[in-house]
Amino acid sequence: MKVAIYPGTFDPITNGHLDILNRAATIFDLVYIAVAMDVDKKTIFSVDERIQMIHDCTQEFTNIKISHFNGLVVDYANQVGASVIIRGLRAVSDFEFEFQMALTNRHLNENIDTVFLMPRVDYTYLSSSVVREIARFGGDVSRFVPENVQIELLKKLREKK
Ligand code: ADP
Repeated sequence: MKVAIYPGTFDPITNGHLDILNRAATIFDLVYIAVAMDVDKKTIFSVDERIQMIHDCTQEFTNIKISHFNGLVVDYANQVGASVIIRGLRAVSDFEFEFQMALTNRHLNENIDTVFLMPRVDYTYLSSSVVREIARFGGDVSRFVPENVQIELLKKLREKK
């Protein structure tokens, strides 16, 4: 059985993430979406909220599991029996950082490979931070995130005011 993990912050999950997940789920037998708990970036959603949103918009997938992790991605991959790390590549600007991280992870564990997937072109400019910015200024994010995420974003921004 080919198991992969798709790690990220998912603050919040976007249609770009779902595009990558969809592609990964057709290639691998099982995909763990692994929500990073301990990140440098300050997140607007807690780990539980990020997991709940992912859960609510991935009901149609039958071969994914949603989890969270602390520490090194390669250690977590090892723990769940995954031999592949999935990452999304949007543009050349992602490449340098991702290249460095993939080679570092290989250095840490030779048995785990990183597989890069590209989203459809409409999502290449999309990121969670862009979505957060648009929502913060009252813009329409309905084309960028699933409906449940849109609702949670509005709720969160109302709480913050
Ligand atoms: P991280 O903090 O690990 O970069 P993100 O949640 O921002 O976490 O992203 C997780 C993964 O999803 C990364 O590989 C990122 O490149 C990818 N990703 C994010 N947005 C998109 C998108 N619009 N299209 C394709 N891949 C994406």
